[in-house]
Amino acid sequence: MINRRCSLSLSWLIAFFAAWWTAGAAAELLELEGQWQQGGIIFGKVTPGYELQLDGRRVRTTDGGEFVFGLGADAPRQVTLAVRDATGRAETRTYEVKQRKYNEQRVNGVEQKHVTPPPELLARIERENALTRKARLLDDERRDFLQDFIWPLSGPITGVYGSRRVFNGVPRSPHYGLDIAAPTGTRVVAPAAGLITLAEPDLFYSGGTLILDHGHGLSSTFIHLSKILVAVGDRVEQGQAIAEVGATGRVTGPHLDWRMNWFDVRLDPALLMEGKPMPAKSPRISKE
Ligand SMILES: [Zn+2]
Repeated sequence: MINRRCSLSLSWLIAFFAAWWTAGAAAELLELEGQWQQGGIIFGKVTPGYELQLDGRRVRTTDGGEFVFGLGADAPRQVTLAVRDATGRAETRTYEVKQRKYNEQRVNGVEQKHVTPPPELLARIERENALTRKARLLDDERRDFLQDFIWPLSGPITGVYGSRRVFNGVPRSPHYGLDIAAPTGTRVVAPAAGLITLAEPDLFYSGGTLILDHGHGLSSTFIHLSKILVAVGDRVEQGQAIAEVGATGRVTGPHLDWRMNWFDVRLDPALLMEGKPMPAKSPRISKE
């Protein structure tokens, strides 16, 4: 009788310690790297087979446990990551998100139709918004996001993420891209490998528009292009020429506007590229 009780409590103890160890292991094997601020992109690794949620939203992991997620322009002061093992045991951790102050940029001299579009264009604009929204929702297991990103071109930064925009004196939605000035025809290369999910030569606001998906919901969007050198469904490698800079859509001059998304969440490419030098000079492919 005593023996039996002993062995029962011993196995209970072993089970308890196994559970404690497992919970401890989940904590040990959560590695995170990135900028904990609005617009930031966070890369990480968790014990393979564990599930991850950011504020209740599933975060896809690779077989090796790698993942990426992003913090939007209005991300709250705190976010919560839940790590769940196969038995459903979850551990949650809270992270502080630095809140940013965005500047205001006044842009004058854009065509008036790009400030207050005539009613007959609204259906077109809505259709085009739906196209880009849909392309950014692709959720697949490609691991291109794990590459070390490179600049798509070199040039002076003329517009930043998050600025409130006032066009010809009229306030409009904030700017969620990074503007890099370069002459029309300048080569744009893929900052990381990926799949082309949208290639449109003439959208109303963004002109020549390309979306390159890096897997796990991380995508790059390039707008105001004069020429697109790839097609939807193409697989491109890092450094491959994919487009040429232009001045199409709502612009006052030629530049590349590079946007990044984690699905519908808008991210700041400048944070990803912080500390990485631009290439010496990007060659021009075509003359204006
Ligand atoms: Zn821009």
